[in-house]
Amino acid sequence: MINIVIFGKPGAGKGTQAAFLKSKYQLFHISTGDLFRHHIYNKTALGILARSYMDKGDLVPDQVTIDMLKDTVENHPEAKGFIFDGFPRTTKQAEALDNFLSGRSMTISATLALEANDDILVKRLIKRGKTSGRLDDQDEDKIRNRFEEYKNKTAPLRDFYTAQGKFHSVDGVGSIDEITQRLTELIDSLY
Ligand code: AMP
Repeated sequence: MINIVIFGKPGAGKGTQAAFLKSKYQLFHISTGDLFRHHIYNKTALGILARSYMDKGDLVPDQVTIDMLKDTVENHPEAKGFIFDGFPRTTKQAEALDNFLSGRSMTISATLALEANDDILVKRLIKRGKTSGRLDDQDEDKIRNRFEEYKNKTAPLRDFYTAQGKFHSVDGVGSIDEITQRLTELIDSLY
């Protein structure tokens, strides 16, 4: 069973690449951002709560995010492996994920980090915001706040996964195909 964390700043291409990897390696794709947007669309209590954070570019609190993630994994016992996209985003989430997976005799196989500089990412996000309808993509202040959240809360996960020997950096600048190629070469070299 391969379980991959796809890691990177907002706009790094996690969702795009996860969609390719999911079909190539037959993984179940879990995007916590997509799950929250689904709740928002359906106006659930979780959606209303999540929206109050997401619209500002803040992270949603750990416990509700962890619970949602666990429910999703538990609801897919048939999955041959998972690709976690946008989760974990804090050390608390990463620890909860490790504990949860080990209780199910599962583990993270690798964390693949898509690297790109902030200026490229801001341009990508503003461009995406024109078609995605996402409020958090349409305002440069909100985008910068997401980068701050990343720097303060998510970046420490590099050390967390490096200490486990699971952290791999991938150049996230180039065409979508080129980046997919880099990721698949890396995954194939690991297995
Ligand atoms: P994304 O679609 O991954 O860019 O996530 C969009 C927004 O959803 C983030 O800016 C957060 O507000 C929220 N979100 C997604 N995943 C998480 C997570 N693992 N922890 C906390 N908030 C999250």
